[in-house]
Amino acid sequence: QLELQNIKKSYGEGGSRIEVLKDISLGIEQGEFVVLLGPSGSGKSTLLNIIGGIDNADSGKIVIRGKSMADMDEKALTSYRREHLGYIFQMYNLIPNLTVRENIEVGAYLSHNPLNIDEIIEILGLKEHQNKLPSQLSGGQQQRCAIGRAIVKNPDILLCDEPTGALDYNTSKEILALIEQVNQKYGNTVIMVTHNDAIKNMADFVVKLRDGVIRKSYRNENKMTAEELDW
Ligand code: ATP
Ligand code: MG
Repeated sequence: QLELQNIKKSYGEGGSRIEVLKDISLGIEQGEFVVLLGPSGSGKSTLLNIIGGIDNADSGKIVIRGKSMADMDEKALTSYRREHLGYIFQMYNLIPNLTVRENIEVGAYLSHNPLNIDEIIEILGLKEHQNKLPSQLSGGQQQRCAIGRAIVKNPDILLCDEPTGALDYNTSKEILALIEQVNQKYGNTVIMVTHNDAIKNMADFVVKLRDGVIRKSYRNENKMTAEELDW
């Protein structure tokens, strides 16, 4: 479904030029739960942003459902970003002057065939909170809202950049369980960047980056549920 071929990316010019991604090739199947691990600065977010079409590789090829990203015109790229991708960040990035429900409606508005908003609110346990503003919510509740906004589009690919990075242990497990549930119920491909090594146990596919190269990647046969994880 998603093929990365020889992706390279550098930032900066001349002497201060750094090669952030050196030669990344990966194949990801529809519906896989991918966990991307690696130390700070290893290029995880850069790779996610390239897959998300919000940063460009210097060279290499990205093929999505048989279509090369390089062959997509502006309209196709916009539609890919708006409709087929969900993005969840560490810092939630909710719209502060919209309620929980309205934030999720923004996601629905971007898609031609959104999921039912009430169903999403129900699954995420946000029913009592739907008319509150983000500032009236805990971090975990805000992240649930951000998940709602991303998945209400029913995206092919859900990109998560350290979605539990700002959350405590119990809330992190709760958020991971929700992402797991979404992945199983709707079959979206999930690509999750994390610093937390334990999370690799819930992946179908584990990818470890170091200094811009894939140091290790493997399919995980003995998946754990978010519930079973411990760290
Ligand atoms: P972390 O775990 O800390 O989030 P990461 O693995 O996500 O790290 P990236 O954010 O991908 O790392 O950054 C990789 C390298 O690229 C870093 O050295 C960073 O400083 C550099 N970098 C990232 N984005 C830019 C940019 N827009 N301009 C210049 N350098 C950048
Ligand atoms: Mg990062």
